[in-house]
Amino acid sequence: MIDLRSDTVTKPGQAMREAIATAEVGDDVLAEDPTVNLLQDKMASLLGKGAGLFVPSGTMANQVAIKTHIQPGDEILIDQDAHIYYYECAATAVIAGGQFQCLQGDNGILSPEAIAAAIRPQDIHQPPSRLICLENTHNRGGGTIYTVERTTSITKLVSDQNMKVHLDGARLFNAALAAGTTVQELSRGVDSVSICFSKGLGAPVGSVLCGSADFIAEARRFRKMFGGGMRQVGILAAACLYALDHHVERLQEDHENARRLAFELAQMDGIQVEPEQVVTNIVIFDVAGTGLDADSFVDKLSTEGVLMIPFGPTTVRAVTHMDVSTADIDRALEIIARFLKSSSR
Ligand SMILES: *Cc1c(COP(=O)(O)O)cnc(C)c1O
Repeated sequence: MIDLRSDTVTKPGQAMREAIATAEVGDDVLAEDPTVNLLQDKMASLLGKGAGLFVPSGTMANQVAIKTHIQPGDEILIDQDAHIYYYECAATAVIAGGQFQCLQGDNGILSPEAIAAAIRPQDIHQPPSRLICLENTHNRGGGTIYTVERTTSITKLVSDQNMKVHLDGARLFNAALAAGTTVQELSRGVDSVSICFSKGLGAPVGSVLCGSADFIAEARRFRKMFGGGMRQVGILAAACLYALDHHVERLQEDHENARRLAFELAQMDGIQVEPEQVVTNIVIFDVAGTGLDADSFVDKLSTEGVLMIPFGPTTVRAVTHMDVSTADIDRALEIIARFLKSSSR
């Protein structure tokens, strides 16, 4: 099977499992797990923030951040395709009591102008706009990126508005690589940032949320409230530390494989994709021209040993990661080409 459904499907290899097996541990609810503390400190300094907090998932990182930033009845400005809005089970409505105002980004990327126009005036009838959520890279946007310039133009805009900015940086290392910069530059001026280790970095579990020391102290209380206080969890943090040391630079290979996939798909009859827009590890393409909808395209492909996910009525998403090689991509392309030829006959 060539599994391109998501970069979450990677499995820990032997060396990562050894790091897990030999991790020093303690009770992390008491802040006594040395491996968790090391990971949190490393991430805080990498991102240029005061402190970090290890959490089980990217969703919990985002929702703890939002709960810490807002009060019930506050409004959050967000792209309409953002993970926080689209894929987190309305957690923000249930837990923090926030209301979203959804904006339409350019493949998920918001402009400072659109945000400025959406910020509410002070008016007794209207909810106060309190938080902006950015997503870098943008998942449903096709792995698109916020540049440093775009991010700082947004953080500057809100710094004098009594508003905060949370960055969902599930794939921020991919973004830094594609933008030719660092995760710290891409986080400058944001009040909180979360990074996933269970995506392209290849760890089995874990995200880290970073922000000021005061923010993280408060977030730690909400993590406990959400049931995310874990005990000898250094065994998981050890996998994340291993990923940080060994799996960041290799993300470049995933980006090259995604570009290869997109360029070759663009040559195929019936498939629509803009390869220049593929800058990280996500490829979204349209199969309307093949006469199939996304569900049947994906179903048929799966019987040939290539897994992708339907992303819209006629759009399909493929994500590259460390468990698919360039040879796998070429084999997947051969299979797709053969399958398109046979279905057009
Ligand atoms: C995967 C992802 C998350 C978090 O997902 P979990 O499955 O909860 O770890 C958050 N934001 C984005 C953009 C993602 O792609």
